[in-house]
Amino acid sequence: MGGERSAAGPLVVVCRVTTACNLACGFCAYDRRLAFARTTLDARRIGHLIDLLAALRAPAPLLSWLGGEPLRWRDWRRWSACARARGIRVSATSNGSTLGTAAARAEVLERLDELTLSLDVADARHDALRGWPGGALRVLTALRALARERAALGSPLRLRANIVLMRSTIGDFATLADALAAAGVDEISFNLLGGRDRPEFHARESVLPAQFAHFQRELPALRARLRDRHVVVAGDAQYAARLRAALAALPWPVADCDPGRDFLFVDEHGLLAPCAFTGAEYGIDLLDVDDLAALPARFRAARTLRCAAACSDCPSTQVSGKFARGVDFMQVPRPALESA
Ligand code: SF4
Ligand code: SF4
Repeated sequence: MGGERSAAGPLVVVCRVTTACNLACGFCAYDRRLAFARTTLDARRIGHLIDLLAALRAPAPLLSWLGGEPLRWRDWRRWSACARARGIRVSATSNGSTLGTAAARAEVLERLDELTLSLDVADARHDALRGWPGGALRVLTALRALARERAALGSPLRLRANIVLMRSTIGDFATLADALAAAGVDEISFNLLGGRDRPEFHARESVLPAQFAHFQRELPALRARLRDRHVVVAGDAQYAARLRAALAALPWPVADCDPGRDFLFVDEHGLLAPCAFTGAEYGIDLLDVDDLAALPARFRAARTLRCAAACSDCPSTQVSGKFARGVDFMQVPRPALESA
């Protein structure tokens, strides 16, 4: 195995390890009410993924469990511990439903470097949107307890929250962000509601352009206020432009995302791809990969052969600056999309 990557930053690998979930979010393909066979990534492929990541040189890569609900996956503790023992940083994105006890939170503090909790609004609307009575309060309570327990243990666990912007909740973003800051979160990210999985929900709840314009005007002041409380609101000017383009139904073609260099996505079948949207065109079975550093060249070759439709309107938020920090959201965006 080579392990020589050209990128300066750590490789991030998001692994959708299971499609099983206990909540009923009306916008999600993994809503527990949807009748289809749920899949969990097999142990052989997880072990191989960890071998591949462990072979990389510094900086330490980040392996991020996604679902479904990854903290209800039986083996998350074992595999997280295994990855960390090999020098890999581990994170998870969770709905927060398993974090009601001190014992459950202690496992998170012991086995994860980063946890992202999903919260859309700090009241009962979150509960209704996600089919989880009392859910918003439970997420905030778990976050507060994790922050307290982290301080007591001197744990470096990074606490994040992700907010899905919706028509009925975007107006309360600042209230939610303040509540998250008070609970002890370190970083907040946000995204628009995706329209692909549940179009009927999207039609009702997608943010309106005027709402987003107002949100964008208010964000710098909120961001400055939260910065004083040591909370980062991620997302840069390009991300703002990308979201405006999406709201205006303008395509966002990406000619070259440097596929496979900084980011990889693994689905529940073990298909490795440059993002969550191109597995069909560029995906490679994990077991057919013996060097992650060789993937960019393989993905480029696949793209030359057959360019995925998704690349002509790239939905991958990590490519468009969702996680960028320290750059003002109102700085001048890409000129061609300024009218979006
Ligand atoms: S908690 Fe997450 S994975 Fe589960 S249904 Fe809701 S959005 Fe989907
Ligand atoms: S959809 Fe976007 S992130 Fe995915 S391969 Fe295409 S350009 Fe890259």
